[in-house]
Amino acid sequence: MQGNARERSNALRVTTSIDRSATQSAENVWEMAQQQLDEVAHLIGLSEGIHLYLRQPKRILEVSVPVRMDDNRVRIFTGFRVQHNMSRGPGKGGIRFHPDVTLDEVKALAMWMTWKCALVNIPFGGAKGGVICDPKAMSMQELENLTRRFTSEISVIIGPEKDIPAPDVYTTPQIMAWIMDTFSMQKGYSIPGVVTGKPIAIGGSLGRDKATARGCLYVVDEAMSVTKQPIEGARVAIQGFGNAGMHAATLMAERGYRIVAASDSRGGVANPTGLDVRGLIAHKLETGSLVGFGGGEKISNKDVLEYECDVLVPAALEKVITRENAPRIRAKIVAEAANGPTLPEADAILHDRGIMVLPDILANAGGVTVSYFEWVQDLQENFWEEDEINARLKQKMTRAFRETHEQATRHGVDMRRGAYAVAVDRVAEATKLRGLYP
Ligand code: NAD
Repeated sequence: MQGNARERSNALRVTTSIDRSATQSAENVWEMAQQQLDEVAHLIGLSEGIHLYLRQPKRILEVSVPVRMDDNRVRIFTGFRVQHNMSRGPGKGGIRFHPDVTLDEVKALAMWMTWKCALVNIPFGGAKGGVICDPKAMSMQELENLTRRFTSEISVIIGPEKDIPAPDVYTTPQIMAWIMDTFSMQKGYSIPGVVTGKPIAIGGSLGRDKATARGCLYVVDEAMSVTKQPIEGARVAIQGFGNAGMHAATLMAERGYRIVAASDSRGGVANPTGLDVRGLIAHKLETGSLVGFGGGEKISNKDVLEYECDVLVPAALEKVITRENAPRIRAKIVAEAANGPTLPEADAILHDRGIMVLPDILANAGGVTVSYFEWVQDLQENFWEEDEINARLKQKMTRAFRETHEQATRHGVDMRRGAYAVAVDRVAEATKLRGLYP
């Protein structure tokens, strides 16, 4: 009895702190992720025990990564692997190499992976990794040394049936190949299923490189249909021109959208009559940046977000749409190719202004969906044609959009809450069915 009373009073204390955080603005990305969960917990009537359980990651591993640099000195980097929830299957989530990586960021990204995998209904939980480093200032040899030692340090918790990493910001198929090789060397045989986003030659999947962008295109198409806007000539602005942003530009242009603005970390270009996407990509590959491209006007990275367009695709980093710029965003649809680009208070402003935000867990779920296909193909040692992969991807993305839209309409909320309602409910059901061990 005493134990129960203590538990109840502890639960009460935690609940009180949840209530308080839900009314504050979340400057910290982890608080923002928790706040998004809190809001939907209330909406779908999540039981308190499961809510508290889902508010925290299951497991956090922090590692020191000693790396021999080209000048023969040893530098120590810090890396993380966080597993948020594995009720529905092994952990799944990318690894980020970036100077601004923090544990809180990795925790938030891991939680979002849990919801994303549940929303597209693939049998994975959520995880994420990151190393605090500046890959742009490192040689290929240094990057390989870093990747191999980091893989070795986290190898105790990853594996095809435990937790499967993938690419994220500034990590590439080559880096995935080093992860696969290091893990396989330790085990003594090839284990392609330990990581996805690998090159095709070593068990990668056709279509994985463009999967995030393709999934984003499919849900934007659905949103255009729901909001009764024509696709042909619809204007698109894209912030971030890496895997997600660059492929989004190509695929959307092929589909008939008009790319009117784009930027990368150094700045951007805009042209209201439409940018020549092929030329833009050639310029980026040649010079390493979009800046200086002749087919448009120079524009700052921030101004891309406020550019006159129908669809805005943030495809870089978190927290770029804020209370300050949300009133000035001119798009009718915001498709979050990046993870966490919109702060909660900005979400409310966009919703009030009638702008449809396709949340990250929906808009960029194409990447993890084809990663799932890659993992299945690796385990079966049987590889599919690209047409089949794209058709299966379209089916998953379209269904996730429709379920999200249905929940959003039913509860009278925005698409983010609609998507969370679908995803959190699925994770909660699995958690409840499995029960509490021991
Ligand atoms: P990437 O490393 O391929 O590209 C990142 C791009 O962002 C680069 O063009 C870079 O110049 C730009 N960038 C970096 N800092 C910037 C800044 N401050 N302002 C504007 N642009 C900036 O990374 P990516 O894989 O395309 O990831 C981009 C986003 O998409 C991230 O939020 C990531 O989590 C998300 N995402 C990626 C995938 C995937 O499969 N690659 C899947 C789901 C989500």
